[in-house]
Amino acid sequence: MQSTSAMNAVFRNLPSVDELLRSRAGAVIVAAAGERHAAEVVRMVIAELRAEISGDPSAAVTKAELFERAESSLSEAWRTEMLTGSHRVINATGVVIHTNLGRAALSVAARKAIADAAGYCTLEYDISTGKRGKRGQRAEQFLAELTGAESVLIVNNCAAAAFFVLTAFGSGGEVIISRGEMVEIGGDFRVPDVLSQSGATLREVGTTNRTKLADYEKAINDNTRVILRVHPSNYRIVGFTAMPSLSELAELAHKKGILLYEDIGSGALIEPEKFGLTDEPLVNASIAAGVDIVTFSGDKLLGGPQSGIIAGKKEYVERLRKHPLYRALRVDKLTYAALEATIEAYRRGTETEEIPVLRMLAMSKDQIRERAEKLIASIQSLRSPISDLKFEIVDGVSAVGGGAAPNVVLETALIAVSHARLSASRIEFALRNAKTPVITRIVDDRVIIDLRTVSEDDESEILKAFESVSRSFVRNPA
Ligand SMILES: *Cc1c(COP(=O)(O)O)cnc(C)c1O
Repeated sequence: MQSTSAMNAVFRNLPSVDELLRSRAGAVIVAAAGERHAAEVVRMVIAELRAEISGDPSAAVTKAELFERAESSLSEAWRTEMLTGSHRVINATGVVIHTNLGRAALSVAARKAIADAAGYCTLEYDISTGKRGKRGQRAEQFLAELTGAESVLIVNNCAAAAFFVLTAFGSGGEVIISRGEMVEIGGDFRVPDVLSQSGATLREVGTTNRTKLADYEKAINDNTRVILRVHPSNYRIVGFTAMPSLSELAELAHKKGILLYEDIGSGALIEPEKFGLTDEPLVNASIAAGVDIVTFSGDKLLGGPQSGIIAGKKEYVERLRKHPLYRALRVDKLTYAALEATIEAYRRGTETEEIPVLRMLAMSKDQIRERAEKLIASIQSLRSPISDLKFEIVDGVSAVGGGAAPNVVLETALIAVSHARLSASRIEFALRNAKTPVITRIVDDRVIIDLRTVSEDDESEILKAFESVSRSFVRNPA
């Protein structure tokens, strides 16, 4: 153990805040984040270094050594900080609607629309009259046309839409729901919690697997406001099951003068069977069956920006538009712009080509395999090919994601990457830390790349990532 005075002498060798701010690493942070934040990072680094050397008093440490250690910690701290926040990544996981990676990738037209609307735009302005215009009108009109609904209102997301509808129409009364639909969608959207927040009283009917029309009918009383139907999204009850059809429910609700509301979640606007999605409901079908209000997400199967679409009878939708809560839940100009551009593709009939979610779902295994073969060949012909990396094409499945179609099997051809000596997690780490991070999965100690969710334009980023992988392996071979 060193004496206190010897320890103090080592502490005196620690660099000062000023010295580190003027170092090369310090100057980078000052330029990017300002003097004040840089000083905070520097102080944290010095405190850590101080703790390290007092934990290891035997090491005699010179001023120069400490400076070097501090500067390298400073670079590392800044690098880590730079990885936080929002960054573009390549989604090579094969999960099409990947909530952690931003749900739906937007179409080229939607991206351009966002950029155009980012300055001043006609959010509430009518160019033809030069007067005030109606917010969201074009996107809402398009959506009404496509869904067959009388009216549409757009809010922040589907959770907001559900909360809004239940608050506006269920608050202070009873909402009837089948026990088979009391589900958690994922994250923290749980049907019973949303109901209790809305101020409505929950009235459960039927059983988990079977609920009959008569169960609903018996539960209706003077206090009943809403019959709620929830699409269970990422959950399925199979086997001995029963539930009334939407049109039966609609008939019952209207006979009793109450509202039928369906939270459909994913909200397919075109035949989901086209993409092999056998049990995803079509918004049009619900509207046609007589449901008063249907809600769905803008960034699931629709393939647009985060938003919640409320579609239904004019009488109810217009009551929502005038409700004081609407102001708190409405979306911004960027969302309207992206939604309009996305919906325009549906109107033209070019949605499968233009909208990434649909394009990815429609890709065949053979198309994916062909791309995988080409990409492997390109990686292997890199200037400095990575020795001992092995690439194989294996059969596998992609996922729709976003809580949609949990049972659907989307067959795909995967690139499986392994290395003679290095672990899969080493490769996964290197790809994730590339300049444009490539997000992959590990299965059976192999890194798995699914090109279904990678646009062809982004394959070059995977190539670049492998270039940096090879450099990192050369530097740290073990
Ligand atoms: C996904 C989902 C939600 C939540 O939608 P967000 O747009 O993420 O808020 C609500 N209800 C159902 C049935 C869903 O599938």
